[in-house]
Amino acid sequence: MARVYNFSAGPAVLPESVLKKAAGEMLEYRDSGMSVMEMSHRSPLFMDIMNETEELLVRLMNIPADYQVLFLQGGASLQFAMIPMNIMTANKTFDIIHTGAWTKNAIKEGEKLGKVNVLASSEDRMYAYIPSFENLKFNSNADYLHICYNNTIYGTKYNTLPDPGNTPIVADMSSCILSEDYDVSKYGIIFAGAQKNIGPAGVTIVIIKKDLMKRADKNLPSMLNFNVHAENRSLFNTPPTYAIYMSKLVFEWLRDMGGVKEIEKINRHKAALLYDYIDNSKLFKGNVDKEFRSLMNVTFSTGSKELDALFVKDAEKKSLTNLAGHKTAGGMRASIYNAMPVEGVQHLVEFMKKFEVEHA
Ligand code: PMP
Repeated sequence: MARVYNFSAGPAVLPESVLKKAAGEMLEYRDSGMSVMEMSHRSPLFMDIMNETEELLVRLMNIPADYQVLFLQGGASLQFAMIPMNIMTANKTFDIIHTGAWTKNAIKEGEKLGKVNVLASSEDRMYAYIPSFENLKFNSNADYLHICYNNTIYGTKYNTLPDPGNTPIVADMSSCILSEDYDVSKYGIIFAGAQKNIGPAGVTIVIIKKDLMKRADKNLPSMLNFNVHAENRSLFNTPPTYAIYMSKLVFEWLRDMGGVKEIEKINRHKAALLYDYIDNSKLFKGNVDKEFRSLMNVTFSTGSKELDALFVKDAEKKSLTNLAGHKTAGGMRASIYNAMPVEGVQHLVEFMKKFEVEHA
């Protein structure tokens, strides 16, 4: 069967050349006589993979030297607990801007560990916007400000950052890391599950300013302590070795195509193809306010549940798959991560045009 255009929100499409390279190295990596999957995480060959993966990410994101990169497990979801455990000080409190399901989870976990101040929320309109920064009242004793930079489910994203003064910003970039050029030095922590723009599920990337790590209580369980992972260069226990190797291949692919600045141009082009069509369509409507539209997760609907369901079903027949919106949002969602080729989006727009003619 031919490969489809996979618009899944995650785990998501990977570059075909990466999958082919991995397939070619499946039985034997270099001259090792074994697959990366079968290799000790302490072997020199795997240590090289680990070091190269980190170096590639540092170069791609221009990560300053006073930041630590960690390859962890437990998904972005574990970070909703691990970050407050490590970064909350005696104040035991953090600020958050509530923009959807992923900040809801961060609030829920944070409240088990301390006090969470919800500075603003876009829940009143189904998270169709990012709240204005104008009236935000940052708490002077907040240990950090948590934001979700790109809202995977509802399809919004930040365009600028709030300015909480000396309070570090912790950003969940699970669904947008490496899609645009970010200035890492503006953040205290950036974290992301891999399964959208990085590689297969199983590895979580945490980029953390080193001075923040000093806050962690020494009595934290080892696996939950950023310092333990940093001291052991993410090899405190067996890391998700194959997911890390796949991430390395994706980073090489991104480097070879010109890096983040180049992919950002392509991402803007892909998103514009879809949004421009939606804006001119009489059938489809975008779900979120134009100003805050995500480059990665494009959400839209026809306004009719039946027609939306038919659209998703018919698209599937044309090898345009996983276009149903999240169950809490309804409608459609096209996730167009870095690895989604421009042709995939073009095919989707062509299909939408035909569907519109048939069902207007
Ligand atoms: N944050 C965001 C923005 C996400 O999109 C997701 C997963 N879709 C998560 C957190 C949770 O990630 P995980 O499943 O890796 O725990």
